[in-house]
Amino acid sequence: MAKTVHIIGAGISGLSAAVRLANAGFSVHVHEATQQAGGRCRSYFDAATNLTIDNGNHLLLSGNRHALAYARSIGTEAGLVGPQRAQFPFVDLANGQRWQLDLGDSRLPLWLFDKARRVPDTGLRDYLALMPLIWAAPSRLVGDAIPCEGTLYRRLVQPLLLAALNVDPPEGSAGLAGAVVRETLMAGGQACRPLIARDGLSAVLVEPAIELLRNKGASIQLGHELRAFGLSAGGIGELKFGADAVTVGPDDAVILAVPPRPAAGLLPGLKTPTKFRAIVNAHFRFDPPKDMPPLIGVVGGLVEWLFAFPQRLSVTISNGDRLVDLPREELAQAIWRDVCAAAGVAGELPPWQIVRERRATFEATPEQNALRPGAETALKNLFLAGDWTDTGLPATIEGSVRSGDRAADLVLARRP
Ligand SMILES: Cc1cc2nc3c(=O)[nH]c(=O)nc-3n(C[C@H](O)[C@H](O)[C@H](O)COP(=O)(O)OP(=O)(O)OC[C@H]3O[C@@H](n4cnc5c(N)ncnc54)[C@H](O)[C@@H]3O)c2cc1C
Repeated sequence: MAKTVHIIGAGISGLSAAVRLANAGFSVHVHEATQQAGGRCRSYFDAATNLTIDNGNHLLLSGNRHALAYARSIGTEAGLVGPQRAQFPFVDLANGQRWQLDLGDSRLPLWLFDKARRVPDTGLRDYLALMPLIWAAPSRLVGDAIPCEGTLYRRLVQPLLLAALNVDPPEGSAGLAGAVVRETLMAGGQACRPLIARDGLSAVLVEPAIELLRNKGASIQLGHELRAFGLSAGGIGELKFGADAVTVGPDDAVILAVPPRPAAGLLPGLKTPTKFRAIVNAHFRFDPPKDMPPLIGVVGGLVEWLFAFPQRLSVTISNGDRLVDLPREELAQAIWRDVCAAAGVAGELPPWQIVRERRATFEATPEQNALRPGAETALKNLFLAGDWTDTGLPATIEGSVRSGDRAADLVLARRP
């Protein structure tokens, strides 16, 4: 008989673990507290814009190999679309200057040696000054490792690290920043092609996983919140869901793939990150100009990244705690002004929606990074997954999938 695994939480980390174990022949049971799978990576119909939107614009890079392998395993790699070359158009709203960072299509970072492909007004020496970041210790601050000023910082390092860490880069963990730089910029253009779930996060990264799991006989229970664990002989013996409870046999395994706060509530004494940062997304129902690139980096404004989707312009603002309590209309007007300047469009504020995810990611500072636990626990049949576990990466889809894969591999390794 197939071994049984219970996965608590149907975010990307839980789903990636579930898919890996279902493919390995396990009897998989997924328990999700809310009525929708996907966690912080999901789509829904929004009445204000009359469009299906994502809770946040999610950008992947072609070097996110675990995330891409996950998409491949659920048959949707082709749903992650982007330009053939790693080209990033930028605009500086302070002076209107536009440029394109062209990382090319090589595995080596040859673009660094070509003035026409680098950030304008930067020299090779500016890039060499970033070297200390590459192998920096996680306990070090970005601000102590590299210069956080000057043209290269303002036009490339700041936007990249702000998006990756979701904190003001100087206060971020240099070790986490270094991991991102190693796996993207240092890996050349082939690892840096931007990829977007054009048909929506749920359609590309969530629903096909659910379908695959159901086809393999897995159960997925929505609205099934785990309230407590029952212990037995050094492991989990029972899952208590409030109205019902499930017995967990000694050979069965449990993967807890919930965010840090519920995880700490379920496992008293578990060390987890305790501080979080917001991400603000704004969506405008507006047809993007025909020649508009799918993604524009914006510096010198409120907006940081501008995405063009069919019928919709969307923006992301990271480290957005300063914006979460602003009146929504005021914020929408301010963001729309930046969008008009960056996209080269004009007009009154179109139908809009603002999504403020207050606890979008754990705070990627050295202090909070030190609180991330590994996948193994003191309980022999319980494993942890989630972007906040110790993946060596900031809170990203790539980190979530890695954590899910790692937890699944630990379950597989228990097999006699
Ligand atoms: C606005 C925004 C923008 C982002 N942009 C990007 C980006 O551009 N690129 C990128 O790579 N990443 C991005 N991220 C990060 C990415 O979304 C996360 O890293 C990833 O989705 C986290 O997945 P997870 O499975 O680790 O956690 P979660 O998505 O939080 O999943 C945990 C699940 O557990 C469930 N749960 C909680 N408690 C219980 C319980 N007691 N019982 C059962 N279920 C429970 C929750 O409901 C949830 O579904 C962004 C995040 C946000 C919010």
